[in-house]
Amino acid sequence: MHEYSVAEGIVLSVKSLMREEGLSEVSEVTVSVGDLAQIDKEVLLELLKILSSEYGLGNVKYVIVSEETTFKCNYCGFSWSWSSVKDSILKDLCGDIVECDNPVHFIPDLINVFMKCPNCGSQDYSILTGYDVRLVSIKGVK
Ligand SMILES: [Zn+2]
Repeated sequence: MHEYSVAEGIVLSVKSLMREEGLSEVSEVTVSVGDLAQIDKEVLLELLKILSSEYGLGNVKYVIVSEETTFKCNYCGFSWSWSSVKDSILKDLCGDIVECDNPVHFIPDLINVFMKCPNCGSQDYSILTGYDVRLVSIKGVK
């Protein structure tokens, strides 16, 4: 499962940060999950709790925040966010159906097929943020 390796990566990073910073205990860990990261946040949270006790981190409070996905056009330099174009893309894909499953969410690599630069129409752009899962901060006691 994808979430499992992500959760394990986070827990291992927390452990090595504890060593580097000389923390005896970690109370809170904030993790950001990109809009287009293929992660189920509830599953991730559950796994983080399980792995924390397996790796001996004890009772850590995990806070998961969403990170907006942003893009930058390689052709004209324009940048934009997923939320600003999402509605029109989903409407193109699904019509007016409200409960449309977002195919981009499941296959982010296909994003270039569904989306063009809103400024110049180029399909050559990069994802700047919100594609993956990042450790934002940890709070602990020395
Ligand atoms: Zn452009």
